[in-house]
Amino acid sequence: MQDVIVVGAGPAGNNAALSLASQGYGVTVIDSRENIGEKLCTGLVGEECFRRYPIDPALVYREISAASVIAPSNDVVRFQTQYPVARVVNRVAYVKSFADKAREAGAQYLLGRRVVRLEQQNDRVSVVTDDGTTEARSLVLAAGFGSQLNRQLGLGEPSDYVVGVQSLVETEGVDEVEVYLGRDVAPGFFAWLVPTQPGYALAGLLVRKNAPERFADFVSARQAEGKITGPVDKPVCWGIPLRPLRKTYTDRVVVVGDAAGQVKPTTGGGIFYSLLASEIASGALHKALREDKLSANHLGDYQKQWKSLLSNELEVGYSARRVFEYLSDSHISSLIDQAGKNGFVSELAASPDVSFDWHSSMIGKIMGHPTLGGVLRLVNPLLARMAKPPEPGEFFPPEASSPEASMAETGTPV
Ligand SMILES: Cc1cc2nc3c(=O)[nH]c(=O)nc-3n(C[C@H](O)[C@H](O)[C@H](O)COP(=O)(O)OP(=O)(O)OC[C@H]3O[C@@H](n4cnc5c(N)ncnc54)[C@H](O)[C@@H]3O)c2cc1C
Repeated sequence: MQDVIVVGAGPAGNNAALSLASQGYGVTVIDSRENIGEKLCTGLVGEECFRRYPIDPALVYREISAASVIAPSNDVVRFQTQYPVARVVNRVAYVKSFADKAREAGAQYLLGRRVVRLEQQNDRVSVVTDDGTTEARSLVLAAGFGSQLNRQLGLGEPSDYVVGVQSLVETEGVDEVEVYLGRDVAPGFFAWLVPTQPGYALAGLLVRKNAPERFADFVSARQAEGKITGPVDKPVCWGIPLRPLRKTYTDRVVVVGDAAGQVKPTTGGGIFYSLLASEIASGALHKALREDKLSANHLGDYQKQWKSLLSNELEVGYSARRVFEYLSDSHISSLIDQAGKNGFVSELAASPDVSFDWHSSMIGKIMGHPTLGGVLRLVNPLLARMAKPPEPGEFFPPEASSPEASMAETGTPV
């Protein structure tokens, strides 16, 4: 019997396997895919993720230090940071690199096997695939979005999600990330062109309904502009959880990554949080395996720890996401217009609050902005509470820095 079975060889599962195998535990990873990491994803990772979990530089397509946001009015605001804040990486190779290291550390991989059932017993967990049964003292469930396996363990599912759709396209003149907003494009969410290798980009969008139709419209509009120039691969759709599971552990089991809903609700990015959570899960399992205390009571520490790291981000991010979903196109255009004025965009870009992975501080800054935050503060009390009052001289000259005064002067973008 193994010490640990990991179901799912995505970032979460591979990193957990790497960490546990490196500590000497017997680990088996099971995945229904033959090719590790080949799950729908854009491969954008923030600098902190990149530093903490490095990747061979040859697998980095781009460094990202600028992005253009295109408002429903077609106005464009360009964010430029002094240093790269993110990189576009070869996602498949990145995820596989964790698996390669886990194998070197002794983990076994069973690929092309779908797990159909999980059974918890007093002294073990049985994992039933279409090919047989494997047993271990414990289980890391890292099966990504939409897995039925969470439910089998009585852990339910993330209560909210969005659908992502994406395809590789040939492009002309798309050298920076472009983000498109508006009800006609991706109501409540956004669409993107993310350049990868020269002449290519990933085109995609997040949306609650009608993802393929929305995507076709988005591509046609970019073709008409001459940005997408070649044939477009068949788009692929997949879900992204927007809320975490209430409970991410049970007897002998911890749930990590998309399966646990550990995803930034603002952008749907989940690679970094999956890696962080799997590191925490491995630490908790290491202690529990060493002491042979694997009941839910002993594994609850995992949830406490990941929540103390990520909960604030997930809560604030989700509140901001919900507010954003309520905004009309004219609100959004007006906010973008305001953001482009008064140097706010450059200040934000230069501020230490800007991070590709930690958004709550940036959201606080936007909420503290006299005009930008004015309306949003009225809409959402949680975000209103965390609004950071501007420093004197920030955004506006000191005499006009009272949010109420500025709102009165400039009007709100309602
Ligand atoms: C369109 C789109 C774009 C995205 N872009 C980004 C981005 O740029 N940056 C970012 O950080 N995040 C992005 N994400 C999210 C990111 O891909 C996920 O958050 C991340 O992959 C989660 O990792 P994971 O290990 O939890 O799950 P996954 O990567 O989904 O891995 C789960 C694995 O479990 C396996 N599995 C599932 N069920 C079973 C079963 N029953 N038996 C055996 N194996 C099973 C699957 O085959 C899969 O390999 C994007 C998502 C989408 C949909």
